[in-house]
Amino acid sequence: MTTAAAGSPRTYQVRTYGCQMNVHDSERISGLLEQAGYVRAPQADDTPDIVVFNTCAVRENADNRLYGNLGHLRPVKDKHPGMQIAVGGCLAQKDRGEIVRRAPWVDVVFGTHNIGALPVLLERARHNAAAEVEILESLDVFPSTLPTRRESTYAGWVSISVGCNNTCTFCIVPSLRGKEKDRRPGDILSEVRALVDEGVLEVTLLGQNVNSYGVEFGDRYAFGKLLRATGEIDGLERVRFTSPHPKDFTDDVIAAMAETPNVCHSLHMPLQSGSDDVLKAMRRSYRSERYLGIIEKVRAAMPDAAITTDIIVGFPGETEADFQRTLDVVREARFSSAFTFQYSKRPGTPAATMDGQLPKQVVQERYERLVAAVEEISWAENKRLVGETVEVLVAVGEGRKDERTGRLSGRARDGRLVHFDAGSFAGSIRPGDIVHTTVTYAAPHHLNADGAPLSHRRTRAGDAAEAGRSPRTPGVLLGLPTIGAPAATPAPTTGCAAH
Ligand code: SF4
Repeated sequence: MTTAAAGSPRTYQVRTYGCQMNVHDSERISGLLEQAGYVRAPQADDTPDIVVFNTCAVRENADNRLYGNLGHLRPVKDKHPGMQIAVGGCLAQKDRGEIVRRAPWVDVVFGTHNIGALPVLLERARHNAAAEVEILESLDVFPSTLPTRRESTYAGWVSISVGCNNTCTFCIVPSLRGKEKDRRPGDILSEVRALVDEGVLEVTLLGQNVNSYGVEFGDRYAFGKLLRATGEIDGLERVRFTSPHPKDFTDDVIAAMAETPNVCHSLHMPLQSGSDDVLKAMRRSYRSERYLGIIEKVRAAMPDAAITTDIIVGFPGETEADFQRTLDVVREARFSSAFTFQYSKRPGTPAATMDGQLPKQVVQERYERLVAAVEEISWAENKRLVGETVEVLVAVGEGRKDERTGRLSGRARDGRLVHFDAGSFAGSIRPGDIVHTTVTYAAPHHLNADGAPLSHRRTRAGDAAEAGRSPRTPGVLLGLPTIGAPAATPAPTTGCAAH
């Protein structure tokens, strides 16, 4: 017996926690379920036939949150025989069978290495009327070989690698996502082409450490070559990537960014701390001088580059002098924005048991000073753009106040958020279209452009948005070892980060 009405397809819902890796994995989970005949449940539906939790293990209370959510679902499931609950992602990889011990009403537990097994596990659990727990220690198939239901008509994630060979002491990724596995350049480029064929204008190349891409097949310049190869793809207007790692960053990547017209001049490079002692304790094997050296070269090659970062405050043992070093680097680097985090213990990481854990109020107070410093700088950097013309890729969901202010929103090429007045183009601009407009005002976290746009270009991504279509890419597995000679793009069929 199922909750779906007889003859109607079973519905699913995916609840995603954590980083971009998970967001993209959830696109794969959706693609897989749709290929298996499930349809996405409407937003308001609180009794889908399948609920998948794609979990994150990064926060200290992540497990409390998961078990709390599972607890809420229990009575719902009791009232809806046939409903199934699956738990995947990093917390599932970590807690494994513990999940069905603590929440025996869960039907399927799957890990980060075997997303592709989900439909089969759901089927098996239903057939056997018993929970299925399957966790693999290493990657089964590269996840990008799985069908993917894309969330955006104009921008797509493309994995270039999974896992990480570093051992940062605050990070759970190496133990949960395993060693770095690099995808072949030909496969990556084929997936990018498949997305562009569907109208996508912007692609973000995704890896825990994109600068070590190629380590598996022995080419330390592979990432720069990959960037240049994306420049050859007709119709691909914007290329971004995340995340680079200062340890492995090579100059050829800067040259590739500067010389490949569709690669955006934006760089999100995690700093984590400006103190060399703290970086050492974090086991991040670059020092602040190297970090600032990379930034200097990036600015010399691309004076318009927007540089953003991640910073952790209050790492165990961080002194006031260490913290001051972080502020110094922030001032010198002139970030256009920064994700700032208060250190919190992540179970299973070396830092969680280190001496020198700091009291909450010390961390809070430093955090507030850091946020103030970052805001002051990002505001000053944004003000420099007033009067400049920016190219905006119109977005969905970026402008929470748009309805109230009558503006539309999108991202400039450098990644900055722009709220703009549509002027005489109002009503004809769709998400995915391109607008040129002039910045009239700068805030710390966004720009406004309140004059009439200079131009509006209708795009295929905009057509797809208007028609309510989302890109769907089939699993792409061509196995080509070289850049520059991709095989024919597979015809798109149906179904389409922790630093
Ligand atoms: S923080 Fe990034 S580089 Fe360090 S171990 Fe985690 S994923 Fe790897």
